[in-house]
Amino acid sequence: MLLGCIADDITGATDLALMLAKSGMRTVQVMGVPDPTSDAFATVASFDAVVVALKSRTNPVAEAVDWSVRSCDALLAGGAQQIFFKYCSTFDSTPEGNIGPVADALSDKLASALAIVCPAFPANARSIYQGQLFVGEQLLSESPMKDHPLTPMRDASLVRVMAAQSQHAVGLVPFQTVAAGLDAVRSAFAELKTLGYRYAVTDAIENAHLMTLGAAIRDHTLITGGSGIAMGLAQNFEASGALTRTAPAKTFAAPTGATAILAGSCSAATRKQVAVAEAAGVPTFKVDPQGVARGEVTSQSVLAWAQSQLGATPVLIYSSDDPAKVGAIQSELGREAAGAMVEQLMADTARALVDAGVTRMIVAGGETSGAVAAGLDVSAIEIGPEIDPGVPWVRSLDARKLTLAFKSGNFGGDDFFLKSWSRLSDA
Ligand code: ADP
Repeated sequence: MLLGCIADDITGATDLALMLAKSGMRTVQVMGVPDPTSDAFATVASFDAVVVALKSRTNPVAEAVDWSVRSCDALLAGGAQQIFFKYCSTFDSTPEGNIGPVADALSDKLASALAIVCPAFPANARSIYQGQLFVGEQLLSESPMKDHPLTPMRDASLVRVMAAQSQHAVGLVPFQTVAAGLDAVRSAFAELKTLGYRYAVTDAIENAHLMTLGAAIRDHTLITGGSGIAMGLAQNFEASGALTRTAPAKTFAAPTGATAILAGSCSAATRKQVAVAEAAGVPTFKVDPQGVARGEVTSQSVLAWAQSQLGATPVLIYSSDDPAKVGAIQSELGREAAGAMVEQLMADTARALVDAGVTRMIVAGGETSGAVAAGLDVSAIEIGPEIDPGVPWVRSLDARKLTLAFKSGNFGGDDFFLKSWSRLSDA
């Protein structure tokens, strides 16, 4: 292992893992704090980059710190030469954290003299100028993130936001310095270190800036940022001779078996994907949450429907519905309870389908994906080819080699459920 990463949510972890895979690093993603003494971890640690996916964005600070530090210990035990703490490109956090406290704990553990704070990802319209984070043309604090239900971001100054969460001084390496190139950035880092700063927010408004910063942090023990900055890390390991880049696969070997799609996202993109698949003749089963609540729709009843049609062409099981219907169920059962109930059904259904011979599956929805991964007992996944921006095929790192696509609700083109299979070849 060269690079060990700790991501504060699952879809963010996959986003980072895909970025690293595309940069030529063989990458694996692990769900939850890894156990470095387990047999499975030896296989995990043989990859160039390991991304630990936590759910530590909004849980209590002490728990987030504990999980992150234990993950860091495991990654170091596995041989990681550098640790990357990955958070969202919109710096999703609350006044308490968890970005600052987790970064502080990792910084102490790794004796990090200076770590960058760089959620910029210009290709995805996240840029930092004079320490201010922009989402497209809007300041973070004027973007829709200002009204996020869990992590409303009301200040675009990353220096201020990070300083409020951290115990340490936070400086800035402005655009002019980053644009001046590697030597200028290195001098700025040296100066900030001398002045006692523990963090440097780094401006970046185009990919070239991320590459310059990537080269400049070659010797940093800790990196903090979004997935964008990861594009500049492989160059360092390659230059030191530690990494021979592996071109990302265009197709992925998957065990032969039946195929299925589970959609628990109610986002506009997923509902369109369901409609397009249905129109193309994919057999569909619509999960009625009322029926689930009454005990009439169960994983076994869904399986009974699916069983006779399982084969090389997919079946589609979905609970996706329009906001009015979702709202009605939520007011009847409660928002959390309705979500948890449907997630449980999807997880149970996924398990039943795998028991019935499904080896290839697309799962739509972030929370739904987490529930299905847990239901299938998938604890580590190898990253394969990108299907659509941000969504790769992945394969469970166990004897089953389940080949899965975990799609965040809003991701993917309209024909995602139809075209994805062509990226798979028979193992
Ligand atoms: P996204 O990535 O689009 O946010 P998620 O899977 O993260 O998708 O979230 C969707 C949530 O909505 C899940 O908790 C899921 O169980 C729940 N859900 C799915 N279908 C319905 C429905 N018909 N009514 C109510 N809740 C639903």
